[in-house]
Amino acid sequence: MSLLEIHDLRVSYATESGSVEAVGGVDLHVDRQGVLGLAGESACGKTTAALAIPRLLPESATVTGSITLGDTDLLALTEKQLETVRWRRVSVVFQGAMNALNPVHTIGHQIREPIDRHEPDTPKEEANARVAELLDAVGIPEDRANDYPHELSGGMRQRVMIAMALACRPELVIADEPVTALDVMTQAQILNLLRDLKDRFGLSMILISHDLSVLAETCDRVAIMYAGRVVEEAPATELFPSGGRGGGPSHPYTKGLLQAFPNVRGERRFVDGMPGYPPDLAAPPPGCRFAPRCPVAIPRCRTDDPASRAVGRDHVASCHLVGGEVPA
Ligand code: SF4
Repeated sequence: MSLLEIHDLRVSYATESGSVEAVGGVDLHVDRQGVLGLAGESACGKTTAALAIPRLLPESATVTGSITLGDTDLLALTEKQLETVRWRRVSVVFQGAMNALNPVHTIGHQIREPIDRHEPDTPKEEANARVAELLDAVGIPEDRANDYPHELSGGMRQRVMIAMALACRPELVIADEPVTALDVMTQAQILNLLRDLKDRFGLSMILISHDLSVLAETCDRVAIMYAGRVVEEAPATELFPSGGRGGGPSHPYTKGLLQAFPNVRGERRFVDGMPGYPPDLAAPPPGCRFAPRCPVAIPRCRTDDPASRAVGRDHVASCHLVGGEVPA
């Protein structure tokens, strides 16, 4: 059962040279207590699509489509009504744990801040008790609450960011590149922590990463974005085959992304980079947006925009060479 439903989400930014569509017609859903991964190269629209949910995009952004959380139409809410959604129902672990905390406030103060702001009726003792509980939940000793961010390692700062996101007990947490810039051991610890917290607090999550290995281990479903669109979406077990299970990716872009990462369990091979760059969204190419980089493009790809097609059970891809009609 879905907690979040997104249909035909479009986000355009007003720029000096005209309107640029950063997200173009995205459909997504997140199951209750499920984890959806969003992947793709930088500037593919994954962060923009995710931040459209709590309406945290800049004023230059125009958002259309529908975003429904439970039975709440988020795009219909006023700024005042959004106060009851942000942090309390949807929270964000922002990118860049090394710099995202305020250097002049203790971490205890920063974890309590969303409670003070969004739940002003909560007694001070209860808020402090919740801070202690959250620090414990993310594996930081309670007596570090009076530390400043510069006294913590990168991994501990990321844990603080996660504790902040849980402060008002949200239903949905959006974690934007939560392990980027952390060393491999710390990455594994943070991913384990996110999985534990999801189960402990009954959370649903959207996990954004350019690193498919991060998503393979953590997500139930994964959506691959390219040039503002979802080009493939499938259960993680289907997209990342393991032990003979799963059919693997179908879209040439997803295949290229996977080729760009070493597989420590598979045969030794050279890692192939993907040639070229994503298109300029102010003037995207006609037809399939991936066509200029696609190794298997056919003439039709340069004129016809591929629709989303069913590849397998619960698996869709937008490519002329794969699948059949998506069932209604
Ligand atoms: Fe490649 Fe054509 Fe498929 Fe696009 S539609 S991914 S260009 S084969």
